[in-house]
Amino acid sequence: EEEALIQSEKLSVVGQMAAGIAHEIRNPLTSLIGFSKFLKTRIDSYHDYFDIMLVELDRINSIVQEFMALAKPQANQFRQHDLIKIIQSVLTLLETQAIMNNVELKAAYNVDSAMLLCEENQLKQVFVNVLKNAIEAMPKGGTVSIVLKSSGSRNITVSITDQGIGIPKEQLPLLGGPFFTTKESGTGLGLMVCYRIIEGHHGKINISSHAGKGTTVTISLPKNG
Ligand code: ADP
Ligand code: MG
Repeated sequence: EEEALIQSEKLSVVGQMAAGIAHEIRNPLTSLIGFSKFLKTRIDSYHDYFDIMLVELDRINSIVQEFMALAKPQANQFRQHDLIKIIQSVLTLLETQAIMNNVELKAAYNVDSAMLLCEENQLKQVFVNVLKNAIEAMPKGGTVSIVLKSSGSRNITVSITDQGIGIPKEQLPLLGGPFFTTKESGTGLGLMVCYRIIEGHHGKINISSHAGKGTTVTISLPKNG
């Protein structure tokens, strides 16, 4: 118990630092991306090199963004939000990516009320990360179902189930560790950010998976934050 407490405190200090550094990297990075794009249009040769630079800069950009999401949610940014609306806006955001990958996103909202004390943008980040993983797990397409349920009078759960490649048993303990990725261009930071944010909301994440069949990520959140 005590060790767990110390661990989560450590994580928040590291998280704060990472977010701070990421913030500092963002501005110079934005100008590097901007000038590389500009030079590519002005210089007639070396376009291949510019393209490589832009791909790599984009990769730095995604890492920076994921680290920025680690910033500890401020207590005063917590407000009452409708979880259904949060999920709907994330689904709209990912619609194009889903269609391009032959993936259907199906949502069922089995709740009377989904009002939640939360930090809206951080929860959006969580659902974006989890849904992207679900889409990326289905190279041949398929269905992702998102189910909202009340769990007792105090909690809401959202489960996100894909029909993808699944996760081998021996990798389950590694999920959410920094830089654990099995993808060629993955950052291995998405789930870490999810765990960090859900922890900040006093919620829980559970991941169950069958290799070759699919994965379910269940996020449970207390209504009062
Ligand atoms: P990234 O997506 O950049 O690899 P994440 O932290 O989001 O980083 O995910 C870490 C790893 O967890 C992935 O590389 C993948 O191996 C595994 N994973 C996460 N979600 C799923 C999923 N829905 N299906 C299969 N594997 C998954
Ligand atoms: Mg990911």
